[in-house]
Amino acid sequence: EAVLGIAGLRALRALGFEIDRYHMNEGHSALLVTELLKRFGTHGPGHDGVQHYDVAQVRDRCIFTTHTPVAAGHDRFSYDLVERELGTSVDMQALRRFGGHEDLNMTHLALNLSGYVNGVAKRHADTSRKMFPGHAVHAVTNGVHPSTWTAASFIHLYDRHFPDWRHDPEVLLRAHIIPDAEIRAARQDAKRALLSRVRAASGVVMNPDVPLIGFARRMTAYKRANLLFHDIERLRAINRKRPFQLVMAGKAHPHDEDGKKIIQQIHHHIRDLEGELPIAFLPNYDMELARTLISGSDVWLNTPIPPMEASGTSGMKAALNGGLNFSVLDGWWSEGCVDGETGWSIGDGTDGTTAEQDAPMLYDKLENSVLALYYDDPDRWTWMMAQAISRLGSYFNTHRMMRRYASEAYLR
Ligand SMILES: *Cc1c(COP(=O)(O)O)cnc(C)c1O
Repeated sequence: EAVLGIAGLRALRALGFEIDRYHMNEGHSALLVTELLKRFGTHGPGHDGVQHYDVAQVRDRCIFTTHTPVAAGHDRFSYDLVERELGTSVDMQALRRFGGHEDLNMTHLALNLSGYVNGVAKRHADTSRKMFPGHAVHAVTNGVHPSTWTAASFIHLYDRHFPDWRHDPEVLLRAHIIPDAEIRAARQDAKRALLSRVRAASGVVMNPDVPLIGFARRMTAYKRANLLFHDIERLRAINRKRPFQLVMAGKAHPHDEDGKKIIQQIHHHIRDLEGELPIAFLPNYDMELARTLISGSDVWLNTPIPPMEASGTSGMKAALNGGLNFSVLDGWWSEGCVDGETGWSIGDGTDGTTAEQDAPMLYDKLENSVLALYYDDPDRWTWMMAQAISRLGSYFNTHRMMRRYASEAYLR
């Protein structure tokens, strides 16, 4: 973090960059404020023996974005370690003043010296305000880069109807002008690409006419990748009545034992359901696989424990491909969900709900709303795909996000 924050700032300066604003994403680069304090400090301690700084100048130059309420996302270091690594090159007294008295909290260091602070969705900003009382936390909801996350079939579709969509994704707001048959054809194309990949990677043969539910993300406890398997008998019964198929992927952090255990459990369930419910778990989840997996899924499932999902972005990628989100009301989905129109909610988003509370709601809605609509009302399903593209794709993109950062944080 010293290399990133301190050396990073010095390297930029040596290369001749005149930086007006520094944007810290999480606390990892926060040591850069020690360099800025030096630049805006008095020369040598004043008459009281304490070094003085023009803190307003530092704050004016710094922007801080917090990305997660999870404790592991907020680094803390003992001052023994800090002193050993940084020695006399930083003012330890100032570090303690802004970064905490007991240990160096990188998030607090960044918070205390930034003139603009934000969370990555409205709900996440609310959560962060509770975590960091006294700080004005704004919200800039994340977005995804449209042409990066759109399948080839949808790229061709949008190129035909909205020639400027790559630079101006707001035009997707008019997605309702696309004929239903074209949306369906693009969807089937993206789905077939995923199915051939599933077959090659896992040997599982899936049916392009059966609804496909996708779930892929970092495997860690709060994301509850195993919630769908909470009641296996219920899952079996739903599948007998209205068959579906499931594609999953995700890696656990090497030190995350709970995350690794969830992957083991999922493999156990897959064996248990073999011959009944087709499930494939694809290895090596990365951006390349994500593009095929997310764009090929009819339904994109997300089941975190609120309010732990700061934003979530894979659901935004799904929407750009006419995928319908079916998710717990947390992160971006609290803003994007219009139940039964842009996708579906699971529960009401109450903080800290348990699997016992959420699983029955998940099953009821899966059976009676999601799968029922797929089989009974394909026209309404296509209408919902257009709603997702128009109301989610036009807004939850990087273009809108960067304009907000520019107007509210960088050029403030
Ligand atoms: C988009 C993406 C993520 C983030 O997805 P979430 O919905 O925020 O969990 C993680 N990993 C890969 C490979 C991705 O493409």
